[in-house]
Amino acid sequence: MIEDILNTFEYIIQLKEKNIKTWEDIFPSFYNLVKNNISEITEIGALEDIKKILAYVKPLKLLPEDRREQRLKGLKESIRELKEKYLIDEITERPEKELALFTDIKYIKHVGTKRAELLKRLNISSLYDFFYFPPRDYEDRRKVTKIFSAKENEKGVIIGKVINYEELKINEGLIILNFSVADDTGVIIVTFFNQGYVKSYLKKGVKAAFYGKIEFSYGLKQMKSPDFQILEKEEDFKKEILPIYPLTTGLFQTTMRNIAKEVIKQTFFLEDFIPDEFLKEFNMLSLKKRLKGLHFPLSLYHKDRALCSLKYEEAILFEIAILYVKLKVKETKRVEQKDIEGKLSQKFIESLNFKLTDAQKRCYEEIKRDLMSPYPMNRLLQGDVGSGKTVVSELAIVDVCEAGYQVAVMVPTSVLAKQQFQRISKDLTSLGLKVELLIGETKENEKISIKERLKLGQIDVVIGTHAIIQQDVEFKKLGFIVIDEQHRFGVNQRLELIKKGTHPDILVMTATPIPRTLAMTFYGDLDVSLIDEMPKGRKPIKTILVSQANQNSLYEFVQQELKQGNQAFFIYPLIEESETLDLKNATDMYEKLKETFKEYNVGLLHGRFSASEKNDVMDKFFNKEYNILVATSVVEVGIDVPDATVIVIEHPDRFGLSQLHQLRGRVGRSKKQSYCFLVIDEKMNYETKQKLSAFAKTKDGFKVAEIDLKWRGPGKFFGLEQHGIPEFKFLDLSEDILIIENSRKKAENFLENPLALEHSEKLKKELKFKYRNSLELINVL
Ligand code: ADP
Ligand code: MG
Repeated sequence: MIEDILNTFEYIIQLKEKNIKTWEDIFPSFYNLVKNNISEITEIGALEDIKKILAYVKPLKLLPEDRREQRLKGLKESIRELKEKYLIDEITERPEKELALFTDIKYIKHVGTKRAELLKRLNISSLYDFFYFPPRDYEDRRKVTKIFSAKENEKGVIIGKVINYEELKINEGLIILNFSVADDTGVIIVTFFNQGYVKSYLKKGVKAAFYGKIEFSYGLKQMKSPDFQILEKEEDFKKEILPIYPLTTGLFQTTMRNIAKEVIKQTFFLEDFIPDEFLKEFNMLSLKKRLKGLHFPLSLYHKDRALCSLKYEEAILFEIAILYVKLKVKETKRVEQKDIEGKLSQKFIESLNFKLTDAQKRCYEEIKRDLMSPYPMNRLLQGDVGSGKTVVSELAIVDVCEAGYQVAVMVPTSVLAKQQFQRISKDLTSLGLKVELLIGETKENEKISIKERLKLGQIDVVIGTHAIIQQDVEFKKLGFIVIDEQHRFGVNQRLELIKKGTHPDILVMTATPIPRTLAMTFYGDLDVSLIDEMPKGRKPIKTILVSQANQNSLYEFVQQELKQGNQAFFIYPLIEESETLDLKNATDMYEKLKETFKEYNVGLLHGRFSASEKNDVMDKFFNKEYNILVATSVVEVGIDVPDATVIVIEHPDRFGLSQLHQLRGRVGRSKKQSYCFLVIDEKMNYETKQKLSAFAKTKDGFKVAEIDLKWRGPGKFFGLEQHGIPEFKFLDLSEDILIIENSRKKAENFLENPLALEHSEKLKKELKFKYRNSLELINVL
C-alpha cells in the first residue's frame, strides 16, 4: 500500500532528523523494504512517483553530508506532496441536486420519517448535522489477511470460500451457525448466533470477504458475527476505510454508512468558510477534504489530517465568535463615565491590617482602569484560594460607590451571601456606605423595604444570590456587578446583565482556578486579571496522607490543635448511611466525633439543612461556639474561618481534585500553620493513591486544576451545560491546549482588522448559522 511506503520514507527521515546514529546501517534495509513492496502499489501514477524517489535517495549514503541534507529535505517535500496527492481525496462527482445545509435529514436517501426519528436521538436533524457527526472509530478494510498469518485479537479482512457448514441447536433460544471458510493458506471458522438468514447467503462454494476480530479457540481460528460481503471475484472486494458510528436502538451500522455515503456526496457543493490565512497557518485540509476524511477517509493519514483540521475549524470559529462578542461589548460606549476620585479607597487601604500584595495592587489597577474607561468592564479576576480576591473586589466596590453608583454582589448560595455580607458590611460601613443583604430567607417586609431603598438609591451595596438580583429588583443607578465564586454563570447570562442595565461593569471572580483552555473558552469573552501571589507570611498548608489505621494518632493531633484554640473540619462524602456505598457519613461520624472530642463542641452541616439552619451552624462555627465542624462538601466554596487550622477529609477519592483543593483552602487563612489530612484506606487502588499524593505535593491550584481536567474531562470539571457554551464535537479541552491557544492568537490577529468579518462573507454566514442558538450577540453580526 502506498500509505505504508510513504510512512516508511517518513520514518527514515525522522531517524535521520533525530540523529539516530545507526541510521546509516538501517537505511539499506528500509530502501530494500520499499523496493520489494513496490508491486503492491495500485494507485495510478504512484508507481512512477515512488520509483523516482527511490532513484533520488539511492546514492544517499555515498553523498557528502551537506548534499545528503539537501536531498533529505527534498525527499521530505516530495513525501508531503505525494501524501496530499495519493492519500487524500474529496467528492468529485456532481450530484444531481444540490441540497441546502439545513435540509431535513428525512429527505436523504435511506432515511425517511422513521429513521429520521432515530437519528434525532443522535442529535442529527439536518444534512449539516450529519456532516459534522463524528464516527467513534474506523475500520481499516484495505488489507486482506491470509488465514495462515492472521493473528489473535487483530481485526482484519479474510477472503475465502465457504467449504462447510454446520448448525448447532444449543437450546430453544440459541442456534449457532458455524461456517468453515478457506483460502489458499488455511481454514477459519466463521460463527453466527441466531442469525439463520445468513445461511441463504453463505452457501457452500460461495466466495466472500469477512471483516472481524480473529480469535483462537481450541486450536482453530475463529471470527464471531463478522460483517461479510459476497464476492463474485476477489477483485470485487472494496478496499476501504469505513466509519463506525455511534448507534441507537433500531439503527444499524450498515444503514448509517449508507446514509453517510449519500450525505457525503453533497459535500461536492461546499465552499470553505475558513479564511485562507488560517488554512495555511494550521496546515488544514479544505472543507470538502476534511468532511470526506471524517466519514470516508482514503487513508489513515487522511483521517488524522481531517480530525485535526476539524478541531482547528471548531476552535477557530469559536474563538472568532467569542472574541467578536468581546469586541462588541467593548464597543458599546456608555452614556456616562464614572468619576472616581479614589479618596475612599485610599481610606479603606489604610484601614486594612495588612499590606496588599503586588499582585493584588496590579489587579486592582487593571480593574480601576476599566471602571473609569468609557467602555463597560467585562473582566475575570482569577486567583488561587486564599489569594485575597475579595479585598480587591472591595476596593473596586468602594470606588464605584464613591462615584455615586450602586453595586450588586452575586454569590451562588445564601450561606456564602451571609458570610460575604458580614465581611463586606464590616469593612465598608465604617466608610459610610450602606450595605444590605437580600436572600430568600430575608423577611418579606424587609425585602420590600430593601427593594424600595434600592430603587431610591439609599443603599450602596446589595449582596445576594443571583436569583434575587436577576428577578424584580430595580436600582436607581446600578454601576457595577460582582459575580463571586460562580462558574455556572456563562456568557449568555452575563450578556443578559449587560443588556439589562445601563452598561454596568462586570467583575467575575472564581474560587476554582481554571486551566487555560477552559479560561479561553468559558471566559473567552472576558479580560483576565490574575492574582499570582499569596499574601506574605502565609504558611503553606501541609497536606498529609494518613492511613485509616492511624486514626487514633490523627485524633490526638486534632486534640492538640483544639487545645490551642484552633478549629477543625471533618469532611465526609455522604450525608447519611448508604445501602450501596460502604463509606463513612457525616451524620454518623458527627455522633462518633462528639464522643471522641467530649470536651469540645461539635457542629454538623450538610446539604439537607435549610438555608437558615446552615447559616446558623456556620455562624456558630465562625464565632467559635463550635470547635469542630462535621460536614459534607457544602463547605466547599469561599467560607473563611481564620482559626480553622485542620481539615480532615475522609474518602478523599470521592471528591474531584479541584474540589479537594477548594476544601483544603478552607484552612490556612491566617498566619498559623494549617494541615489537611487525607484519610486513605487499604482498599484504595494504587493509581488513586498516586493521584492523591501528587495532589498533596501540589500547592498551586492551577496545576491541580490541570491534573483534574485531565482526569475527569471538562464535562465533570464543571457543569458545562448551563454555560451557554456550545458543546465541542472534535476538541478535547484537556488535550487540545495548543490548538485552542493557536486559534485564539490567530483569531485575535484576524479581528484586529475591523472589517475582517465584513470581508469574509462565507465565514460570517457560517458563524451566524452555527451559533444561532447558543451565542447571543452573534445575531448582531
Ligand atoms: P479568596 O477569596 O481569594 O479565597 P480572600 O479574599 O477571602 O481570598 O482572602 C483570604 C484571607 O486573606 C482573608 O482573611 C483576607 O483578609 C486575607 N488577606 C487578603 N489579602 C491579604 C494580604 N495582602 N495580606 C494578608 N492577608 C490578606
Ligand atoms: Mg473568596
